[in-house]
Amino acid sequence: MIKRALLSVSDKNGIEELAKKLDDAGVELISTGGTKRVIEEAGVTVKGISEVTDFPEIMDGRVKTLHPNVHGALLAKRSSEDHQSQLKEHGITPIDLVVVNLYPFKETVAKEDVSFEDAIENIDIGGPTLLRSAAKNHQDVTVVVNPEDYETVVTAVQNGEEVSFEKKKELAAKVFRHTAQYDSLVADYLTDEAFPETKTVTYERKQVLRYGENPHQKAAFYVEPFAEQSSLAHAKQLHGKELSYNNIQDADAALSMVREFDSPAAVAVKHTNPCGVGTGKSLFEAYSRAYAADPVSIFGGIVALNRPVEKEVADKLSQIFLEIIIAPSFTDEAFDILSKKKNIRLLEIPVEKSRGNERLHSVTGGVLIQEEDQYPVEDVEFTVATEREPTEDEWTDLKFAWQIVKHVKSNAILLAKDQQTVGVGAGQMNRVGAAAIAIEQAGAQAQGAAMASDAFFPMDDTVEAAHQAGVRAIIQPGGSIRDEDSIKKCNEYGITMVFTGVRHFKH
Ligand code: 5GP
Repeated sequence: MIKRALLSVSDKNGIEELAKKLDDAGVELISTGGTKRVIEEAGVTVKGISEVTDFPEIMDGRVKTLHPNVHGALLAKRSSEDHQSQLKEHGITPIDLVVVNLYPFKETVAKEDVSFEDAIENIDIGGPTLLRSAAKNHQDVTVVVNPEDYETVVTAVQNGEEVSFEKKKELAAKVFRHTAQYDSLVADYLTDEAFPETKTVTYERKQVLRYGENPHQKAAFYVEPFAEQSSLAHAKQLHGKELSYNNIQDADAALSMVREFDSPAAVAVKHTNPCGVGTGKSLFEAYSRAYAADPVSIFGGIVALNRPVEKEVADKLSQIFLEIIIAPSFTDEAFDILSKKKNIRLLEIPVEKSRGNERLHSVTGGVLIQEEDQYPVEDVEFTVATEREPTEDEWTDLKFAWQIVKHVKSNAILLAKDQQTVGVGAGQMNRVGAAAIAIEQAGAQAQGAAMASDAFFPMDDTVEAAHQAGVRAIIQPGGSIRDEDSIKKCNEYGITMVFTGVRHFKH
Protein backbone atom coordinates (compact mmCIF):
# COMPACT_ATOMS: atom_id res chain seq x y z
CA MET A 1 0.00 0.00 0.00
CA ILE A 2 1.25 3.48 -0.83
CA LYS A 3 1.82 5.41 2.42
CA ARG A 4 4.73 7.67 1.56
CA ALA A 5 5.49 9.37 -1.74
CA LEU A 6 8.39 11.40 -3.06
CA LEU A 7 7.51 13.99 -5.70
CA SER A 8 10.27 15.81 -7.59
CA VAL A 9 9.35 17.11 -11.01
CA SER A 10 10.65 19.61 -13.52
CA ASP A 11 7.45 19.56 -15.54
CA LYS A 12 5.02 20.71 -12.84
CA ASN A 13 1.95 20.01 -14.98
CA GLY A 14 -0.71 18.16 -13.02
CA ILE A 15 1.46 17.90 -9.91
CA GLU A 16 -0.87 19.98 -7.69
CA GLU A 17 -3.82 17.78 -8.62
CA LEU A 18 -1.83 14.67 -7.93
CA ALA A 19 -0.53 15.98 -4.61
CA LYS A 20 -4.04 16.95 -3.50
CA LYS A 21 -5.49 13.57 -4.33
CA LEU A 22 -2.65 11.69 -2.66
CA ASP A 23 -2.91 13.91 0.41
CA ASP A 24 -6.68 13.39 0.58
CA ALA A 25 -6.09 9.66 0.50
CA GLY A 26 -3.74 9.98 3.48
CA VAL A 27 -0.41 9.60 1.69
CA GLU A 28 2.53 11.41 3.27
CA LEU A 29 4.27 13.65 0.75
CA ILE A 30 7.95 14.53 0.46
CA SER A 31 9.30 16.92 -2.11
CA THR A 32 12.29 18.91 -3.38
CA GLY A 33 12.57 22.73 -3.50
CA GLY A 34 10.60 23.88 -6.53
CA THR A 35 8.09 21.06 -6.44
CA LYS A 36 7.50 21.61 -2.73
CA ARG A 37 6.72 25.28 -3.34
CA VAL A 38 4.11 24.48 -5.99
CA ILE A 39 2.45 21.87 -3.80
CA GLU A 40 2.40 24.13 -0.76
CA GLU A 41 0.92 26.94 -2.81
CA ALA A 42 -1.92 24.56 -3.60
CA GLY A 43 -2.52 24.31 0.14
CA VAL A 44 -1.24 20.77 0.56
CA THR A 45 1.07 19.72 3.39
CA VAL A 46 4.41 18.42 2.17
CA LYS A 47 7.69 17.60 3.86
CA GLY A 48 10.92 19.05 2.45
CA ILE A 49 13.57 16.59 1.33
CA SER A 50 16.04 18.15 3.76
CA GLU A 51 13.94 16.91 6.65
CA VAL A 52 14.39 13.40 5.32
CA THR A 53 18.08 13.66 4.55
CA ASP A 54 18.88 15.96 7.45
CA PHE A 55 21.04 17.73 4.94
CA PRO A 56 20.44 20.90 2.93
CA GLU A 57 19.95 20.90 -0.86
CA ILE A 58 23.42 21.98 -1.94
CA MET A 59 25.39 23.15 -4.99
CA ASP A 60 22.51 24.90 -6.71
CA GLY A 61 20.42 21.78 -6.40
CA ARG A 62 23.01 19.45 -7.88
CA VAL A 63 22.74 17.43 -4.67
CA LYS A 64 19.21 17.20 -3.32
CA THR A 65 18.07 13.64 -3.02
CA LEU A 66 21.36 11.75 -3.34
CA HIS A 67 21.33 10.41 0.18
CA PRO A 68 21.06 6.98 1.87
CA ASN A 69 17.95 8.13 3.75
CA VAL A 70 16.30 8.47 0.34
CA HIS A 71 17.86 5.61 -1.57
CA GLY A 72 17.69 3.25 1.39
CA ALA A 73 14.00 4.09 1.61
CA LEU A 74 13.60 3.17 -2.04
CA LEU A 75 15.83 0.14 -2.33
CA ALA A 76 14.89 -1.71 0.84
CA LYS A 77 13.19 -5.01 0.11
CA ARG A 78 10.00 -5.24 2.08
CA SER A 79 10.29 -9.01 2.18
CA SER A 80 13.81 -8.99 3.64
CA GLU A 81 14.02 -9.00 7.41
CA ASP A 82 17.60 -7.91 7.15
CA HIS A 83 16.67 -4.86 5.06
CA GLN A 84 13.84 -4.03 7.43
CA SER A 85 16.08 -4.14 10.47
CA GLN A 86 18.64 -1.95 8.71
CA LEU A 87 15.90 0.58 7.98
CA LYS A 88 15.09 0.64 11.68
CA GLU A 89 18.71 0.82 12.70
CA HIS A 90 19.30 3.90 10.54
CA GLY A 91 15.94 5.52 11.20
CA ILE A 92 14.81 5.32 7.56
CA THR A 93 11.14 5.17 6.63
CA PRO A 94 10.39 3.41 3.33
CA ILE A 95 9.06 5.35 0.34
CA ASP A 96 6.41 3.55 -1.72
CA LEU A 97 5.84 5.91 -4.59
CA VAL A 98 8.25 8.03 -6.64
CA VAL A 99 7.01 10.64 -9.09
CA VAL A 100 9.85 12.22 -11.00
CA ASN A 101 10.37 13.81 -14.34
CA LEU A 102 13.76 15.02 -15.36
CA TYR A 103 15.45 18.32 -16.13
CA PRO A 104 14.43 19.13 -19.71
CA PHE A 105 17.74 18.25 -21.34
CA LYS A 106 16.26 17.60 -24.78
CA GLU A 107 14.31 20.86 -24.83
CA THR A 108 17.36 22.74 -23.58
CA VAL A 109 19.78 21.51 -26.24
CA ALA A 110 17.11 21.95 -28.92
CA LYS A 111 17.35 25.71 -28.36
CA GLU A 112 19.49 27.31 -31.00
CA ASP A 113 21.40 29.60 -28.67
CA VAL A 114 21.94 27.11 -25.84
CA SER A 115 25.22 27.57 -24.00
CA PHE A 116 27.39 24.61 -23.10
CA GLU A 117 27.06 25.47 -19.38
CA ASP A 118 23.30 25.55 -19.63
CA ALA A 119 23.25 22.18 -21.33
CA ILE A 120 25.51 20.64 -18.68
CA GLU A 121 23.42 22.08 -15.86
CA ASN A 122 20.41 20.42 -17.44
CA ILE A 123 21.85 16.95 -17.08
CA ASP A 124 19.72 15.56 -14.29
CA ILE A 125 21.63 13.30 -11.93
CA GLY A 126 19.49 12.92 -8.84
CA GLY A 127 16.29 12.43 -10.84
CA PRO A 128 17.43 9.43 -12.89
CA THR A 129 18.97 7.99 -9.74
CA LEU A 130 15.65 8.21 -7.91
CA LEU A 131 13.86 6.72 -10.87
CA ARG A 132 16.34 3.88 -11.25
CA SER A 133 16.33 3.00 -7.55
CA ALA A 134 12.56 2.89 -7.50
CA ALA A 135 12.40 1.00 -10.79
CA LYS A 136 14.90 -1.61 -9.61
CA ASN A 137 12.77 -2.18 -6.54
CA HIS A 138 9.47 -2.14 -8.47
CA GLN A 139 8.38 -5.20 -6.56
CA ASP A 140 7.76 -2.83 -3.64
CA VAL A 141 7.84 0.65 -5.14
CA THR A 142 5.63 2.33 -7.72
CA VAL A 143 7.49 4.71 -10.01
CA VAL A 144 5.96 7.26 -12.35
CA VAL A 145 7.96 9.19 -14.92
CA ASN A 146 5.14 10.22 -17.22
CA PRO A 147 2.23 12.45 -16.10
CA GLU A 148 -0.10 10.29 -18.21
CA ASP A 149 0.31 7.59 -15.53
CA TYR A 150 -0.74 9.79 -12.59
CA GLU A 151 -4.33 8.68 -12.97
CA THR A 152 -3.61 4.94 -12.61
CA VAL A 153 -1.79 5.52 -9.35
CA VAL A 154 -4.40 7.91 -7.98
CA THR A 155 -7.19 5.45 -8.71
CA ALA A 156 -5.39 2.66 -6.87
CA VAL A 157 -4.65 4.88 -3.86
CA GLN A 158 -8.19 6.23 -3.70
CA ASN A 159 -9.59 2.71 -3.81
CA GLY A 160 -7.19 1.58 -1.10
CA GLU A 161 -5.71 -0.96 -3.53
CA GLU A 162 -2.17 -2.04 -4.32
CA VAL A 163 -0.87 -1.07 -7.74
CA SER A 164 -0.60 -4.49 -9.39
CA PHE A 165 2.80 -6.08 -9.82
CA GLU A 166 2.28 -6.17 -13.59
CA LYS A 167 1.61 -2.44 -13.64
CA LYS A 168 4.60 -1.69 -11.42
CA LYS A 169 6.82 -3.73 -13.71
CA GLU A 170 5.47 -1.90 -16.74
CA LEU A 171 6.12 1.46 -15.07
CA ALA A 172 9.66 0.35 -14.18
CA ALA A 173 10.35 -0.62 -17.79
CA LYS A 174 9.12 2.81 -18.86
CA VAL A 175 11.64 4.35 -16.49
CA PHE A 176 14.60 2.38 -17.79
CA ARG A 177 13.66 3.23 -21.37
CA HIS A 178 13.29 6.85 -20.41
CA THR A 179 16.63 7.13 -18.61
CA ALA A 180 18.35 5.22 -21.42
CA GLN A 181 17.05 7.73 -23.94
CA TYR A 182 17.99 10.59 -21.65
CA ASP A 183 21.56 9.34 -21.42
CA SER A 184 21.80 8.75 -25.15
CA LEU A 185 20.77 12.35 -25.80
CA VAL A 186 23.46 13.53 -23.40
CA ALA A 187 26.07 11.36 -25.10
CA ASP A 188 25.03 12.66 -28.53
CA TYR A 189 25.29 16.20 -27.30
CA LEU A 190 28.80 15.68 -25.97
CA THR A 191 30.24 14.18 -29.13
CA ASP A 192 29.69 14.30 -32.87
CA GLU A 193 31.36 10.94 -33.33
CA ALA A 194 29.37 9.35 -36.14
CA PHE A 195 30.27 5.73 -35.52
CA PRO A 196 30.98 5.25 -31.81
CA GLU A 197 31.75 1.85 -30.35
CA THR A 198 28.17 1.42 -29.24
CA LYS A 199 25.35 3.22 -30.98
CA THR A 200 22.72 4.44 -28.56
CA VAL A 201 20.20 6.10 -30.86
CA THR A 202 16.71 6.11 -29.44
CA TYR A 203 13.54 6.73 -31.39
CA GLU A 204 10.18 8.00 -30.28
CA ARG A 205 7.03 6.25 -31.42
CA LYS A 206 4.96 8.51 -33.61
CA GLN A 207 2.38 6.06 -34.79
CA VAL A 208 1.43 2.43 -34.47
CA LEU A 209 0.66 1.44 -38.04
CA ARG A 210 -2.22 -0.72 -39.11
CA TYR A 211 0.33 -3.11 -40.57
CA GLY A 212 3.71 -3.20 -42.27
CA GLU A 213 4.62 -3.63 -45.90
CA ASN A 214 2.00 -6.40 -46.02
CA PRO A 215 -1.10 -6.94 -43.91
CA HIS A 216 0.40 -9.86 -41.97
CA GLN A 217 3.35 -7.75 -40.73
CA LYS A 218 2.98 -5.64 -37.59
CA ALA A 219 4.66 -2.24 -37.72
CA ALA A 220 5.09 1.20 -36.17
CA PHE A 221 6.65 4.49 -37.19
CA TYR A 222 9.41 5.83 -34.93
CA VAL A 223 11.04 9.21 -35.31
CA GLU A 224 14.38 10.66 -34.28
CA PRO A 225 14.39 12.92 -31.22
CA PHE A 226 15.77 15.76 -33.33
CA ALA A 227 14.30 14.92 -36.73
CA GLU A 228 14.61 17.79 -39.18
CA GLN A 229 11.49 19.79 -39.97
CA SER A 230 11.58 18.84 -43.63
CA SER A 231 10.77 15.19 -42.95
CA LEU A 232 7.92 12.76 -42.50
CA ALA A 233 8.57 12.97 -38.75
CA HIS A 234 7.07 16.46 -38.77
CA ALA A 235 4.52 16.02 -41.55
CA LYS A 236 1.26 17.76 -40.77
CA GLN A 237 -1.60 15.74 -42.17
CA LEU A 238 -4.38 18.06 -43.25
CA HIS A 239 -6.75 15.54 -44.70
CA GLY A 240 -7.36 11.88 -45.43
CA LYS A 241 -6.92 8.46 -43.90
CA GLU A 242 -4.04 7.52 -41.64
CA LEU A 243 -0.72 7.00 -43.41
CA SER A 244 0.33 3.41 -44.00
CA TYR A 245 3.81 1.90 -43.83
CA ASN A 246 4.17 1.97 -47.61
CA ASN A 247 2.75 5.50 -47.74
CA ILE A 248 5.44 6.73 -45.38
CA GLN A 249 8.21 5.07 -47.38
CA ASP A 250 6.95 6.39 -50.69
CA ALA A 251 6.23 9.84 -49.33
CA ASP A 252 9.77 9.98 -47.98
CA ALA A 253 11.17 9.02 -51.39
CA ALA A 254 9.08 11.71 -53.10
CA LEU A 255 10.11 14.32 -50.56
CA SER A 256 13.81 13.41 -50.93
CA MET A 257 13.58 13.93 -54.68
CA VAL A 258 11.66 17.17 -54.72
CA ARG A 259 14.10 18.66 -52.19
CA GLU A 260 16.80 18.43 -54.86
CA PHE A 261 15.39 21.28 -56.89
CA ASP A 262 15.54 25.03 -56.47
CA SER A 263 13.13 25.78 -59.32
CA PRO A 264 9.47 24.73 -59.11
CA ALA A 265 9.39 20.93 -59.22
CA ALA A 266 6.93 18.07 -59.02
CA VAL A 267 7.75 14.43 -58.40
CA ALA A 268 5.43 11.47 -58.74
CA VAL A 269 6.50 8.26 -57.01
CA LYS A 270 5.43 4.64 -57.13
CA HIS A 271 7.10 2.07 -54.90
CA THR A 272 9.87 4.52 -53.96
CA ASN A 273 10.91 5.12 -57.59
CA PRO A 274 10.02 8.22 -59.58
CA CYS A 275 7.49 7.61 -62.34
CA GLY A 276 7.35 11.24 -63.41
CA VAL A 277 9.39 14.29 -62.54
CA GLY A 278 9.08 17.77 -63.98
CA THR A 279 10.53 21.18 -63.33
CA GLY A 280 9.49 24.48 -64.85
CA LYS A 281 8.97 28.18 -64.48
CA SER A 282 5.80 27.59 -62.48
CA LEU A 283 4.55 24.76 -60.32
CA PHE A 284 1.77 24.18 -62.80
CA GLU A 285 4.27 23.71 -65.60
CA ALA A 286 6.35 21.40 -63.40
CA TYR A 287 3.40 19.25 -62.39
CA SER A 288 2.05 19.13 -65.95
CA ARG A 289 5.40 17.71 -67.03
CA ALA A 290 5.56 15.22 -64.15
CA TYR A 291 2.08 14.05 -65.09
CA ALA A 292 2.76 13.87 -68.83
CA ALA A 293 5.94 11.88 -68.15
CA ASP A 294 3.87 8.78 -67.43
CA PRO A 295 0.11 9.35 -67.16
CA VAL A 296 -0.41 5.63 -66.53
CA SER A 297 1.95 4.99 -63.62
CA ILE A 298 1.10 8.16 -61.71
CA PHE A 299 -2.36 6.74 -61.03
CA GLY A 300 -2.51 5.89 -57.32
CA GLY A 301 0.88 7.51 -56.84
CA ILE A 302 2.37 9.97 -54.44
CA VAL A 303 3.13 13.49 -55.58
CA ALA A 304 5.52 15.89 -53.88
CA LEU A 305 5.74 19.56 -54.83
CA ASN A 306 8.20 22.19 -53.65
CA ARG A 307 5.96 25.26 -53.85
CA PRO A 308 2.62 26.13 -52.22
CA VAL A 309 -0.28 24.48 -54.05
CA GLU A 310 -2.77 26.95 -55.47
CA LYS A 311 -6.07 26.52 -57.30
CA GLU A 312 -4.74 25.82 -60.78
CA VAL A 313 -2.43 23.02 -59.67
CA ALA A 314 -5.07 21.65 -57.28
CA ASP A 315 -7.57 21.43 -60.15
CA LYS A 316 -5.14 19.41 -62.19
CA LEU A 317 -4.11 17.21 -59.27
CA SER A 318 -7.75 16.44 -58.53
CA GLN A 319 -8.31 14.99 -61.99
CA ILE A 320 -6.71 11.65 -61.12
CA PHE A 321 -6.58 9.35 -58.13
CA LEU A 322 -3.52 10.06 -55.98
CA GLU A 323 -2.70 8.49 -52.61
CA ILE A 324 -0.79 11.44 -51.16
CA ILE A 325 0.07 15.01 -52.04
CA ILE A 326 2.98 16.63 -50.23
CA ALA A 327 3.61 20.36 -50.38
CA PRO A 328 4.95 23.13 -48.18
CA SER A 329 1.39 24.49 -48.02
CA PHE A 330 -2.02 24.51 -49.68
CA THR A 331 -4.07 27.64 -50.19
CA ASP A 332 -7.62 27.49 -48.78
CA GLU A 333 -8.98 27.23 -52.29
CA ALA A 334 -6.61 24.38 -53.17
CA PHE A 335 -7.44 22.61 -49.93
CA ASP A 336 -11.17 22.84 -50.65
CA ILE A 337 -10.70 21.34 -54.10
CA LEU A 338 -8.48 18.48 -52.97
CA SER A 339 -10.22 17.64 -49.70
CA LYS A 340 -13.42 16.88 -51.59
CA LYS A 341 -11.75 13.54 -52.24
CA LYS A 342 -12.17 11.39 -49.20
CA ASN A 343 -9.23 9.11 -49.77
CA ILE A 344 -6.48 11.52 -50.66
CA ARG A 345 -3.97 12.33 -47.94
CA LEU A 346 -2.72 15.90 -47.84
CA LEU A 347 0.59 16.44 -46.09
CA GLU A 348 2.12 19.76 -45.27
CA ILE A 349 5.91 19.51 -45.00
CA PRO A 350 8.38 22.38 -45.39
CA VAL A 351 10.43 21.42 -48.43
CA GLU A 352 13.99 22.44 -47.67
CA LYS A 353 17.43 21.13 -48.58
CA SER A 354 18.43 18.13 -46.51
CA ARG A 355 20.72 18.87 -43.59
CA GLY A 356 22.43 15.52 -44.30
CA ASN A 357 21.22 12.67 -42.16
CA GLU A 358 22.37 9.30 -41.08
CA ARG A 359 20.74 6.47 -42.99
CA LEU A 360 20.09 3.07 -41.44
CA HIS A 361 19.50 -0.10 -43.32
CA SER A 362 18.58 -3.20 -41.43
CA VAL A 363 20.20 -6.52 -42.21
CA THR A 364 19.71 -9.80 -40.42
CA GLY A 365 21.56 -9.43 -37.15
CA GLY A 366 22.28 -5.73 -37.36
CA VAL A 367 22.10 -2.42 -39.13
CA LEU A 368 24.25 -0.70 -41.67
CA ILE A 369 24.70 2.97 -41.04
CA GLN A 370 25.89 5.45 -43.61
CA GLU A 371 25.72 9.13 -44.41
CA GLU A 372 22.91 10.19 -46.68
CA ASP A 373 23.83 10.24 -50.37
CA GLN A 374 23.86 13.98 -50.92
CA TYR A 375 26.41 15.28 -53.40
CA PRO A 376 24.44 18.23 -54.78
CA VAL A 377 24.65 18.80 -58.51
CA GLU A 378 26.41 22.16 -57.92
CA ASP A 379 29.37 20.30 -56.40
CA VAL A 380 29.83 17.85 -59.26
CA GLU A 381 32.84 18.41 -61.52
CA PHE A 382 31.64 17.53 -64.97
CA THR A 383 34.06 16.40 -67.64
CA VAL A 384 33.00 16.14 -71.24
CA ALA A 385 34.48 12.86 -72.44
CA THR A 386 33.46 13.13 -76.08
CA GLU A 387 34.37 15.31 -79.07
CA ARG A 388 30.99 16.97 -79.04
CA GLU A 389 30.16 19.28 -76.13
CA PRO A 390 26.55 19.38 -74.86
CA THR A 391 24.40 22.26 -76.08
CA GLU A 392 22.85 24.53 -73.45
CA ASP A 393 19.56 22.62 -73.56
CA GLU A 394 21.38 19.33 -73.31
CA TRP A 395 23.25 20.55 -70.20
CA THR A 396 19.92 21.43 -68.59
CA ASP A 397 18.48 18.00 -69.30
CA LEU A 398 21.66 16.18 -68.30
CA LYS A 399 21.83 17.91 -64.94
CA PHE A 400 18.11 17.42 -64.38
CA ALA A 401 18.42 13.70 -65.16
CA TRP A 402 21.48 13.41 -62.92
CA GLN A 403 19.58 14.90 -59.97
CA ILE A 404 16.89 12.26 -60.28
CA VAL A 405 18.78 9.14 -61.26
CA LYS A 406 20.43 9.29 -57.86
CA HIS A 407 17.05 8.49 -56.31
CA VAL A 408 16.23 5.57 -58.59
CA LYS A 409 16.89 2.01 -57.47
CA SER A 410 20.01 0.52 -59.06
CA ASN A 411 20.67 -0.40 -61.75
CA ALA A 412 19.10 2.80 -62.92
CA ILE A 413 18.82 4.45 -66.32
CA LEU A 414 16.75 7.55 -66.76
CA LEU A 415 15.77 9.49 -69.88
CA ALA A 416 14.80 13.14 -69.74
CA LYS A 417 13.86 15.84 -72.17
CA ASP A 418 12.81 19.46 -71.67
CA GLN A 419 12.88 19.25 -67.85
CA GLN A 420 10.73 16.16 -67.83
CA THR A 421 11.50 12.50 -67.29
CA VAL A 422 10.42 10.43 -70.25
CA GLY A 423 11.64 6.96 -69.26
CA VAL A 424 12.76 5.33 -66.02
CA GLY A 425 14.44 1.94 -65.84
CA ALA A 426 14.73 1.03 -62.15
CA GLY A 427 16.08 -1.82 -60.08
CA GLN A 428 17.35 -4.00 -62.90
CA MET A 429 19.98 -6.67 -62.58
CA ASN A 430 21.92 -5.38 -65.56
CA ARG A 431 22.41 -1.89 -66.91
CA VAL A 432 21.42 -2.53 -70.49
CA GLY A 433 18.19 -4.06 -69.15
CA ALA A 434 17.43 -0.84 -67.27
CA ALA A 435 18.19 1.11 -70.46
CA ALA A 436 15.83 -1.08 -72.47
CA ILE A 437 12.98 -0.37 -70.05
CA ALA A 438 13.62 3.39 -70.01
CA ILE A 439 13.84 3.48 -73.80
CA GLU A 440 10.72 1.46 -74.32
CA GLN A 441 8.80 3.66 -71.95
CA ALA A 442 10.02 6.83 -73.63
CA GLY A 443 9.01 5.59 -77.09
CA ALA A 444 9.22 8.45 -79.60
CA GLN A 445 10.19 10.84 -76.81
CA ALA A 446 13.61 9.20 -76.61
CA GLN A 447 14.50 11.15 -79.77
CA GLY A 448 16.89 13.88 -78.68
CA ALA A 449 16.58 12.92 -75.00
CA ALA A 450 19.34 12.90 -72.39
CA MET A 451 20.27 9.66 -70.62
CA ALA A 452 21.57 9.36 -67.06
CA SER A 453 23.09 6.26 -65.50
CA ASP A 454 23.65 5.84 -61.74
CA ALA A 455 26.91 3.95 -62.29
CA PHE A 456 29.44 3.56 -65.10
CA PHE A 457 28.86 1.58 -68.30
CA PRO A 458 30.77 -1.68 -68.00
CA MET A 459 30.70 -1.92 -71.81
CA ASP A 460 29.46 -0.01 -74.82
CA ASP A 461 26.14 -1.84 -75.21
CA THR A 462 24.14 0.88 -73.41
CA VAL A 463 25.54 3.54 -75.75
CA GLU A 464 24.48 1.37 -78.66
CA ALA A 465 20.94 1.07 -77.26
CA ALA A 466 20.86 4.82 -76.58
CA HIS A 467 21.85 5.61 -80.14
CA GLN A 468 19.26 3.23 -81.59
CA ALA A 469 16.61 5.06 -79.59
CA GLY A 470 17.75 8.52 -80.67
CA VAL A 471 19.38 9.67 -77.40
CA ARG A 472 21.80 12.56 -78.03
CA ALA A 473 23.43 13.15 -74.66
CA ILE A 474 24.59 10.89 -71.83
CA ILE A 475 25.65 11.53 -68.23
CA GLN A 476 27.32 8.86 -66.11
CA PRO A 477 30.10 8.54 -63.52
CA GLY A 478 32.74 7.12 -65.87
CA GLY A 479 35.63 5.11 -64.48
CA SER A 480 35.14 1.76 -66.21
CA ILE A 481 38.20 0.07 -67.72
CA ARG A 482 36.12 0.03 -70.89
CA ASP A 483 35.28 3.74 -70.87
CA GLU A 484 37.20 4.13 -74.13
CA ASP A 485 34.81 1.77 -75.92
CA SER A 486 31.81 3.84 -74.83
CA ILE A 487 33.52 7.13 -75.72
CA LYS A 488 34.49 5.81 -79.15
CA LYS A 489 30.95 4.72 -79.85
CA CYS A 490 29.55 8.09 -78.74
CA ASN A 491 31.99 9.91 -81.03
CA GLU A 492 31.03 7.64 -83.90
CA TYR A 493 27.34 8.53 -83.39
CA GLY A 494 27.85 12.21 -82.55
CA ILE A 495 26.49 11.67 -79.01
CA THR A 496 27.87 13.91 -76.28
CA MET A 497 28.85 12.18 -73.02
CA VAL A 498 29.61 13.78 -69.66
CA PHE A 499 31.41 12.09 -66.76
CA THR A 500 30.58 13.09 -63.19
CA GLY A 501 33.16 11.05 -61.28
CA VAL A 502 30.40 10.32 -58.75
CA ARG A 503 28.40 7.13 -58.41
CA HIS A 504 24.89 6.91 -57.00
CA PHE A 505 24.09 3.30 -56.25
CA LYS A 506 20.85 2.91 -54.38
CA HIS A 507 19.72 -0.49 -53.18
P1 5GP B 1 12.57 21.03 -7.94
O1 5GP B 1 11.90 21.87 -8.98
O2 5GP B 1 11.60 20.24 -7.13
O3 5GP B 1 13.52 21.81 -7.09
O4 5GP B 1 13.48 19.97 -8.68
C1 5GP B 1 12.90 18.92 -9.39
C2 5GP B 1 13.92 18.28 -10.30
O5 5GP B 1 15.09 17.95 -9.56
C3 5GP B 1 13.43 17.00 -10.92
O6 5GP B 1 13.54 17.15 -12.33
C4 5GP B 1 14.36 15.93 -10.38
O7 5GP B 1 14.64 14.96 -11.38
C5 5GP B 1 15.59 16.68 -9.97
N1 5GP B 1 16.34 16.12 -8.85
C6 5GP B 1 15.89 15.42 -7.79
N2 5GP B 1 16.93 15.14 -6.96
C7 5GP B 1 18.06 15.64 -7.49
C8 5GP B 1 19.44 15.67 -7.11
O8 5GP B 1 19.85 15.15 -6.06
N3 5GP B 1 20.29 16.28 -7.98
C9 5GP B 1 19.88 16.86 -9.13
N4 5GP B 1 20.79 17.43 -9.93
N5 5GP B 1 18.59 16.86 -9.50
C10 5GP B 1 17.68 16.27 -8.70
